[in-house]
Amino acid sequence: MTQLEEEITQCYERDFQRAVFACKNIAAQHRLKYVQLTPDHPGYQVDYAASSGDEIFMCEYTTKNMYLMCFFHELGHCLINKRGWKADSKLEQEIQAWNEGMEQMINRCVGLEITYPMIRFMLDNIKTYIKQ
Ligand SMILES: [Zn+2]
Repeated sequence: MTQLEEEITQCYERDFQRAVFACKNIAAQHRLKYVQLTPDHPGYQVDYAASSGDEIFMCEYTTKNMYLMCFFHELGHCLINKRGWKADSKLEQEIQAWNEGMEQMINRCVGLEITYPMIRFMLDNIKTYIKQ
């Protein structure tokens, strides 16, 4: 790796760490528990997140953008639960969580660029809940 490539990698990692730090703070501001899962945890999977009640569970992520999308989606689930919103179906629940999460992400996250693969990821995720 050249020195320039190494510097770019370090810059990216610092940027990623800042994003994780920001998300942990956002979770705390909403009185939610941010749980970092480790590979020894059952069901652990790279690029995977989940939530339950007022807890957000995050595995390791390969990219910052994917990490942010998933964190804010789970945040969306938690905030919707807190408000006591009801959904008629799993699909509606998922769309509500994406909607709330993306709203929060746009309002809160500094230095975030929403890219085509991020939109694609969200749409593909929603599609898995649509009955064909
Ligand atoms: Zn979801």
